[in-house]
Amino acid sequence: MNQKTAEFIESLEDTINEAVRYCFAVRSTRLQMEWALRIDELASTVSTLNEEMQECSEEDSANALLSVEMGLRALSHELRMWVSLKTEKVREAWEYFVSAERNAANAVSIHPVSAKLLGYLERLRRIEKVVFPTQLFNSVGMIVIDSHCSICKLPYEECDHEKGKAYMGKYCSEIITNVDLREVSIVEEPRDKRCRVFTMTENGIEIDTLTLDVVSPSYDHPTATIHD
Ligand SMILES: [Zn+2]
Repeated sequence: MNQKTAEFIESLEDTINEAVRYCFAVRSTRLQMEWALRIDELASTVSTLNEEMQECSEEDSANALLSVEMGLRALSHELRMWVSLKTEKVREAWEYFVSAERNAANAVSIHPVSAKLLGYLERLRRIEKVVFPTQLFNSVGMIVIDSHCSICKLPYEECDHEKGKAYMGKYCSEIITNVDLREVSIVEEPRDKRCRVFTMTENGIEIDTLTLDVVSPSYDHPTATIHD
């Protein structure tokens, strides 16, 4: 990575360390939200520098910046998770948790600059165990009929990019547009933790799997709304 990128990343450290101090349930909800917004702004600044590095074909710097941006998104979403929990928006809290974990894991996998997030990931796993009950998830068995690469837009099997890796500051995903659905099963260890079971029936009454509170007949089953 070039010197400009290395110095810029180093300059973020104090702000990140300060924001991490607010990642506890007891911290002020107002301050947690303020820090989440501040970290989002920082992530946008990182993204702008990433674009600059892409234009000069500085691939390692661009990938490092993408990794840092994902780490910042993880931090912002953890802060929002605590805010959601304290305002009784538990489903939203789970979505933020999943996004924080996914962003941190992606940050680690695409560039060594985020290697220290391994400890942070371990912390998130502990949070999951203590804060949320064991959950069940829907796992979809399917055959992918059409999908394309998020980077070059070619059919995924025809391109040379590999999903889960970064190329010139961009993250590669396989965008699935058509599937042949074979089965839906209930599992404890899903590939996508957003696909959880929202309600269950106990003694003939439908209750929320997180709150255990009764779900009203007009209950609008939520869909995942938080994007990575
Ligand atoms: Zn591709």
